[in-house]
Amino acid sequence: MIVIDPGHPSEVNSGRAIQNGTTELEMNWEVAERLVKILESNSHLRVLKTREVRDSFMSNKDRSATANKASATIFLRLHCDTGSGSGFTIYYPDRQGKKNGKTGPSQEIIKQSGEAAHFIHRGMCEKLGNCLKDNGIKGDSATFVGGKQGALTGSIFSEVPAVTVEMVFLSNKSDAEFIKCEKGKQSLAQALAQGVFLWVREKEIRK
Ligand SMILES: [Zn+2]
Repeated sequence: MIVIDPGHPSEVNSGRAIQNGTTELEMNWEVAERLVKILESNSHLRVLKTREVRDSFMSNKDRSATANKASATIFLRLHCDTGSGSGFTIYYPDRQGKKNGKTGPSQEIIKQSGEAAHFIHRGMCEKLGNCLKDNGIKGDSATFVGGKQGALTGSIFSEVPAVTVEMVFLSNKSDAEFIKCEKGKQSLAQALAQGVFLWVREKEIRK
């Protein structure tokens, strides 16, 4: 089972701020839908989105709960970054964090999330080539929220490997043009799917 989490609207923000003529909520959702289709059509995988309605609010804790309940092979979370950079960045919980009295994830999940992040990164590099800048793999603790809590909320509550992909910097004009066009969205979905396939294959080899 693969759980795809199109980021926002959550307690952190709605994802509805307009940047370069679009919103993060819209882009996350549209790539997620394409990714789910690719995963469902190309493999024996079962795929679940954390929610079925784009605009419905869901807390980050509840997103993790969905992935945990499904015993997901990966809890893959799609976001777009904002700021002065460009390109894609992959995050995983590199240490435990604390939120609402909960400390997590476990050391085993930290290890597995790091491994999953490696395969997602490899898949994305294979499929994206030089279309987008590769910012590599970083720890949740390097994010704004993760810096304060130790890890992202969705990671703290995750009992399965959790990987967050900031697909582009929506604040960057050329990144925004890339993800807004059909070809770019499809390329991102294929790149993410490739990463998932590599991770699933790795898990099967290890069995
Ligand atoms: Zn986001």
